[in-house]
Order: sequence, then C-alpha cells, then structure tokens
Amino acid sequence: MHELSIATAVLNTALKHADDRRVRTVHLRVGAMRQVVPDSLVFYFEIVARDTACEGAALELIELDTQLSCRRCGRGWSPEIPAFRCPDCGSADVEVQAGEELEVEYIEVEDDDGDDNGQDEADGRTEHHIEEKETACTAPR
Ligand SMILES: [Zn+2]
Repeated sequence: MHELSIATAVLNTALKHADDRRVRTVHLRVGAMRQVVPDSLVFYFEIVARDTACEGAALELIELDTQLSCRRCGRGWSPEIPAFRCPDCGSADVEVQAGEELEVEYIEVEDDDGDDNGQDEADGRTEHHIEEKETACTAPR
C-alpha cells in the first residue's frame, strides 16, 4: 500500500497547483531508493484521481539512480545494489546525494484562455513548473 499513499500525495500536490484546471500529465521524479513500483503507482493514481481535475491524467515517472558520496574523501558513486560503503576508502560515513527524490516536477494543464485559437501554441497545453520542488510525500519508506 506504499504506492497508494504516494499516489494520494502526488494527487494532492498536482491539484494544489492545477488551480481547478484540468490536468493532463503529472511529471514525477522518483529516486531509486523510494522503491516505488511504477505500474502500481500509476494504477493507484488512476483510482485516487477519479472525480478530480486529475481524472484521466497521465503520470510520467522519471526514475533517478541513487547517488552516494563519501564524507571522508569526497568520492561520489552510484551503487548497483544497496551498498553504503565508499569503494575508495571503505568509510561507511556516507551521504545520500540522490535516490530519495519524490517530487512532482511539473504538471500539464488544459489552457482554457482561448478556446479555438488552434495555432501551434503547444495545442492548448500549459506546463506548470513547480518552483519549490516540494517533496510530494512524507510517508515512511
Ligand atoms: Zn571515501
């Protein structure tokens, strides 16, 4: 049910920024350490989005590799498997640089300003970039 709580958090973030405009796509960055199952997240998102401005919206997941860095020698690396020891100096005093992201990067909404201007203005779509890069989920991993 991990994905259900994430789907709910993502939905709330998207709705907050959508301002009652219909959302077409939600772009989400997810770090590998979140251990999100993409299909499962998409499935739950469709359910929680029903009867909201996000109904029928696509969820685009960008999965990010885990990045670690050694606090002792500064070496940075991306572990194949969870291994939290620095490959250079063997220190276990390491810091997660990337891999814990769970951010709604931006949403695409219907532009209801001009109805049928039909020009090539990204066919009525607006990208709403989310400035503060808020983490969409505080649920325990
Ligand atoms: Zn090191």
